Amino acid sequence: MRILILDIYPKKPYRISKDNNGGYGSSNRYGSNMVGKAINWFIKKNVDWPPLSSVHVLGILRSKGHEVFYKRELPDFLDKYDLFVIPSSIVCHESEINLIKKLKSLNKKIAVIGPFASSNPDLYIKEGAFVIKGEPEMFFFNEDINLKKIQNLKGVIDNFALSPLDDLPLPAWDIIYKNYPTMFSLLKNKQKMIPLLATRGCPYSCRFYCTYPLQQGIKVRQRNPSLILNEMKHWQSTLGVNFFIFRDPVFSINKKHTLELCETLINSNQKFQFVIETHLNNLDIELVKKLKAAGMVMVKVGVESAMKDVKKDANRFSIDEDDTFNKIKEIESLDIHVTTMFILGYPKDTIETCKATIEYAKQINSIVTQFTVFTPYPGTPAFNGYKEKILTNKYEDFTMYDLIFRHNNLSKEDIEKLKNEAYQKCYLNPKWIKKYIKARSSLPH
Ligand code: SF4
Repeated sequence: MRILILDIYPKKPYRISKDNNGGYGSSNRYGSNMVGKAINWFIKKNVDWPPLSSVHVLGILRSKGHEVFYKRELPDFLDKYDLFVIPSSIVCHESEINLIKKLKSLNKKIAVIGPFASSNPDLYIKEGAFVIKGEPEMFFFNEDINLKKIQNLKGVIDNFALSPLDDLPLPAWDIIYKNYPTMFSLLKNKQKMIPLLATRGCPYSCRFYCTYPLQQGIKVRQRNPSLILNEMKHWQSTLGVNFFIFRDPVFSINKKHTLELCETLINSNQKFQFVIETHLNNLDIELVKKLKAAGMVMVKVGVESAMKDVKKDANRFSIDEDDTFNKIKEIESLDIHVTTMFILGYPKDTIETCKATIEYAKQINSIVTQFTVFTPYPGTPAFNGYKEKILTNKYEDFTMYDLIFRHNNLSKEDIEKLKNEAYQKCYLNPKWIKKYIKARSSLPH
């Protein structure tokens, strides 16, 4: 069969990523003041991958002998394709629906994949697509699809076996790389980066509002470290890539596995570099040293808020504020860059608590600081308490950078001002500028 993964995005002056935010996506609208607009521009030039699971699907279908394609725009000659696969997201939802309507009017068969469609299948089914619920790579891995079979697929396709991650063929990054090479680097620099996985799944209590466990589940599954190394070597020898971004929701959640992976990478004598995202609770200084020896250059951690009660109210599992500060400083003392992530507009937040969070972020002064806005997502348990308070009827407005519900203490304008203030305070901070100049040459570039 000839299968096209059609990955559509609205055109905006900021980056829209479907891979972020557990696959629901984010529209990186950092701010509307000078600093915010400068960051919007900079991040739009940054790496910009499709959702990892759709690249896995591409690899699986190719390994089964299908002819596969990936495009970000509707091509000519639609008749040459037997199946269209659309990666869903909340941030491109209306654009995806328009595309489905167009394809349906031409009598095409359309599969929709990804966590947003999995949690909200009716939105897509009523337009004539069928939805593969859960991890789409597991469906395509277990099912041998053919022209006859796909004609009978409709509604929600569910309950297929979850195969071990180690059984899956490699994601087909080479296909994407061939057609969209600039997606893989920052500001079109030479250094290319490729996302990969060591684990999937997160059991922590913040899944109350977080989208990651919606598709990946709460059970942690890990890949064999030697297969991870083989994948890295494969991209090094075929695409010349030595730099990797682990897309696990909590990279070091299984310490034993993380240590095994470190040993495997260290013993390989390869000079790979990588970035991880994890929870500070899952990092101790001995582990950070091992990760550094294995090639880690940056760690991203969610700090979320300076206010204990604000986090507790939202079920955010966290460590003490002093421990957070000290741990970050300890990591930085080992010459590892830290990205800290904060959320403004938690349900219990006020202007004062948000300002305290901004001050705390400024005090931490990490090399990258990110502020997003608390968003109750349809599909998460948190959404039930907000159904009647949503301020928009357009899913694409769920950017993760805007207030989209009637907040008890904050208006949309308050949040916009706070967000502008946050980025300005952190990035026009003389201490940050000094730190950036010193660190510049060693930052991922
Ligand atoms: S730690 Fe919380 S926020 Fe992070 S992936 Fe897990 S559930 Fe989501």
